[in-house]
Amino acid sequence: VYANPIREFKEGGRSLGVVMIFQDITEIRKLEIMRKQFVANVSHELKTPLTSIKGFVETLRGGAVEDERVRDRFLEIVEVESSRLSELIDDLLVLTDIERRTEDGIYEPIDMKKTIGDVVLMLEDSAASKEIAIQSILPETLPTLHGNPNWFKQMLINLVDNAIKYTPGGGHVTVKVSFDMKEITISVRDNGIGIERDHLGRLFERFYRVDKARSRDVGGTGLGLAIVKHIVLSFGGAISVKSEPGKGSEFTVLLPRTDVGQRVL
Ligand code: ADP
Repeated sequence: VYANPIREFKEGGRSLGVVMIFQDITEIRKLEIMRKQFVANVSHELKTPLTSIKGFVETLRGGAVEDERVRDRFLEIVEVESSRLSELIDDLLVLTDIERRTEDGIYEPIDMKKTIGDVVLMLEDSAASKEIAIQSILPETLPTLHGNPNWFKQMLINLVDNAIKYTPGGGHVTVKVSFDMKEITISVRDNGIGIERDHLGRLFERFYRVDKARSRDVGGTGLGLAIVKHIVLSFGGAISVKSEPGKGSEFTVLLPRTDVGQRVL
C-alpha cells in the first residue's frame, strides 16, 4: 500500500492531523513486474536467433564459405533463423495490436462456416505432408457472429496449426462447432502428444512452452496461444483445454452469440 500525505491541518503551529490517501498498488506493481518480464522475454527471444545468425555468418566469412556443403548448410540455418525472427516479430505485432484495440475493435459479421473452410484449406498441405487428416463437423447452419473477422480467423489458424504441429504423422485433427441459444462452442481436438497436467494452467502465457527443445524443432514462437486467449477475450468469450499425454488435446472456445439479445458494451 502506498500512502501519500496530501494535506496537513495546523492550528497555531501545532499539527492537528493530516489527510492521507491510501492506494493499493499491488495490482500496479504486478503489472509493472509482468511488463518487465515480458520485455526481458522478448529481448531474449529476439536475441537467440540473431546470435545464431551472427555466429554462422562469421564462421562463413572465416573460411567455411569455401566448402560448398558446409556453406549450404550454414546458409540454410541463417535462412531458418531469419524466418523465425520475422515470425516472432509478426506475432508480437499481432499480440500488441489485439491488446491495444480490444475495446474499440471492429464489429463486423463473420461467416464462420466459410472461415473454417478457408482455414482447413490453408493448413491442409502442412497436415497432408504429415499424413494428418483434418475433419470439420459443423451444423447445417451457423448463427452469424460479430467481431473482427481477421482475429477470428487467426484464432482458428493458431489452434489448428498447433493441433497439426503437436500430432505425430497419421493422426487426425477435428474442428467441431455447435451452438445453443446463448453461445457458440468451437473445439479443436487432436490425437497427438498431449500435455502434462502441470503445464495446462500456464499454456496461455506468452512464451510459455512445454518443452523448449522440442518446440524449437517444430517451430513456433510460444505466442500462439497468448494471441488466441486475447482474441477470445475480445469476443467476450472463454477458452479451456483438456489434454492427456500420449492421447491428445482438446481446446474449447465458448463465444457468446452476438445475433440474439443485446450486445453488452
Ligand atoms: P508454440 O509457438 O510453441 O506452439 P503456443 O503458444 O501456440 O506456442 O503453445 C504453447 C505450448 O503449448 C506449445 O509450445 C506446446 O508445448 C503446447 N501446445 C499447444 N497446443 C498443443 C497441442 N495441440 N498439443 C500439444 N501441445 C500443445
